[in-house]
Amino acid sequence: MIETQESYPEIRDSVRRLCIQFPGEYWQALDRERTYPSAFVRALTEAKFLSVLIPEAFGGFGLGLGAATAILEEIHRSGCNGGACHAQMYTMGTLLKHGSEAQKQHYLPKVASGELRLQAFGVTEPDAGTDTTRIRTFARRSGDNYIVSGQKIWISRAEHSDLMVLLCRTTPRAACAKPSDGMTVLLVDMRDAVGNGLTIRPIRTMLNHASTELFFDDLVVPTANLIGEEGKGFRYILSGMNAERILIAAECIGDGRFFIDRATAYAKDRNVFGRAIGENQGVQFPIARAHVQLCAAAGMVDRAAHLFDAGLDGGTEANMAKMLASEASWYAADMCVQTHGGFGFAEEYDIERKFRETRLYQVAPISTNLILSHVATHALGLPKSF
Ligand SMILES: Cc1cc2nc3c(=O)[nH]c(=O)nc-3n(C[C@H](O)[C@H](O)[C@H](O)COP(=O)(O)OP(=O)(O)OC[C@H]3O[C@@H](n4cnc5c(N)ncnc54)[C@H](O)[C@@H]3O)c2cc1C
Repeated sequence: MIETQESYPEIRDSVRRLCIQFPGEYWQALDRERTYPSAFVRALTEAKFLSVLIPEAFGGFGLGLGAATAILEEIHRSGCNGGACHAQMYTMGTLLKHGSEAQKQHYLPKVASGELRLQAFGVTEPDAGTDTTRIRTFARRSGDNYIVSGQKIWISRAEHSDLMVLLCRTTPRAACAKPSDGMTVLLVDMRDAVGNGLTIRPIRTMLNHASTELFFDDLVVPTANLIGEEGKGFRYILSGMNAERILIAAECIGDGRFFIDRATAYAKDRNVFGRAIGENQGVQFPIARAHVQLCAAAGMVDRAAHLFDAGLDGGTEANMAKMLASEASWYAADMCVQTHGGFGFAEEYDIERKFRETRLYQVAPISTNLILSHVATHALGLPKSF
């Protein structure tokens, strides 16, 4: 293993010890069948790792994003995948920041204990794509209820969540002063909703990510489940996205370290032409380059987490961290396959699985072009292109 100066050493050590119980064979079997890692998620929940961001007053650890990034990085470095449950850590942020006191008292202690899974986040729609202001899922007010109709796509873990943070329109885009007005956040109780106006259809993808499509057909959601004020939902969702980007970036750092650890060990061990392949600079240099790129990206992730925890405006840094980390992990993934030659393609080595998994992060939760556009216009003051 490559030595690095580590934050939260005790937390990292506990995560590593937990992850050892979920070796490659565990993930390979789930990946083959595209099934959910229930035992792994249960173990993380019982160890309270998913509640680190919830304040102590609501039963969590009340730690910052720095601790959460350490947890997710170690999960990924160990060869495991936090994608099955990372949203249990941060989706509650919308409720914590914008929910009423009664909502927080009602839900957060149960989310902290794991009794309630709040790990579905419904934003993306097939016709809107990245242009969130064009979502069309509509919540119409009827007495003490909203009646929701529409469709969402790519919603992760919807089948494994008790609650979902849902963004929908309550005023048509054309009737709003600004396109980002008129959107509202509702907390949907999936246990009541499925079969009563909500249909979940799984989507099989190149990785085991519990992806689904959601169809809303006059789903009834009580107005008591409105988060914050009607029409201001876009702002609430945006504020949670920075945390998500930083945490996903930490997963990329973990993936990158996994690939570098594996490639380094293999390059030392594998003998061809009478010597270790790692003696060849043609093999060494890509591994070293991956390490350099990953260390640089990790520095940006730490900076973004620090700004977030300090309550400072770090939106640009969160985006830059996600972009650098996802590109560094992808370079490391490609390098690791190359270093392993044919064995990089063998299921039992876990490299091909991790290679597929880490590719996601240049597309979701936000694609690289959109990050570049943000940096160009927000950090550099270049003209907007859309
Ligand atoms: C496995 C998986 C899990 C996901 N989980 C969730 C989830 O839980 N909840 C949720 O709400 N969403 C989820 N998503 C959706 C994800 O956030 C989107 O796929 C992502 O933001 C990209 O949006 P899109 O797929 O609509 O691409 P599009 O917006 O259609 O864009 C397609 C491509 O065109 C580029 N592009 C578009 N417009 C421009 C432009 N103006 N300039 C330059 N380039 C542009 C984009 O960068 C992208 O590369 C998930 C997606 C995947 C694949």
